[in-house]
Amino acid sequence: MKKIIIAIDGFSSCGKSTMAKDLAKEIGYIYIDTGAMYRAVTLYCLRHGWFRTDGTVMEEELHRHLDDIRISFRLDPESHRPLTCLNGETVEDDIRSLEVSSHVSPVAAVGFVREMLVRQQQAMGAEKGIVMDGRDIGTAVFPQAELKIFVTASADIRARRRYDELTGKGQEVSYDDILHNVEERDRIDQTRAVSPLRKADDALLLDNSHLTIAEQKAWLKEQYNKVVNAESGN
Ligand code: C5P
Repeated sequence: MKKIIIAIDGFSSCGKSTMAKDLAKEIGYIYIDTGAMYRAVTLYCLRHGWFRTDGTVMEEELHRHLDDIRISFRLDPESHRPLTCLNGETVEDDIRSLEVSSHVSPVAAVGFVREMLVRQQQAMGAEKGIVMDGRDIGTAVFPQAELKIFVTASADIRARRRYDELTGKGQEVSYDDILHNVEERDRIDQTRAVSPLRKADDALLLDNSHLTIAEQKAWLKEQYNKVVNAESGN
C-alpha cells in the first residue's frame, strides 16, 4: 500500500501525541514527536544556564553550541514507544517536567533552532510512512502531507489532562501553574514570527474536548483509511 505523510498539529496538551503514536503503531509507520526535539534543546539550555531571569534564552550561546546538540530517538524495548535522547542520554522524563515546559516556547521561537530541527524532521520523513506531531508540520515541515489534522480542546480541559498525567507520574504540580503554562505557550506559539502555530487551510479540524481517547483514535483511523483508499483509487 502506498505510504503517506500524516501531519498532526495543534495546541499544547491536547492529546495529539497519544493519538499519533497509537495510529503509527497500528499502521506500522514511524512516529516522531517534534515537541520532544524542542524540549531536548531546551533541556540542554537549562543545563548550561542559558536562560536569563526574564525567561529569555541566550541566543548567542545557543548558536555557538548548536552543533553540540544531537537529538535522537530509541525504542523502549518494553513499551515499544520512542524515547528521546540528548547526546546519547535518554531524557524522556526530564523533558516532560514543568521546568522544561515553562522554557520551551522561547527556544522554539528562535529561527536558527527551527531551521535545524525542521531540516532533521524533513529528512526523517523523506521515505514517507511517517506520523509527525507538532505545531508547524502541516504548514512548514510537510506542507505537501497527504493527511493533515489540527487538534484543539479548551485550555481548561488540556490543563486538567496535563495535571493528571504529571501527578500520575508522582510529580508535585499545581493545576493553576499548569493552566498558566498552557495558556502562555499557546500565546507565544501563536504569535511568534517564525512558523507560528496555525491551522493549515487544508487541515481537518478535530476538537477533542469531549471525546474519549478511543473515539479520537477511531476518528483518526477513519481519516487515514479515506486518504489511502483515495490514493489507491478505491
Ligand atoms: O508538543 P509539546 O507540547 O511537547 O511541544 C513543546 C513546545 O515545543 C510547544 O509549546 C512549542 O513551543 C514547541 N513546538 C514547536 N514546533 C513544533 C513542536 C513543538 O514550536 N513542531
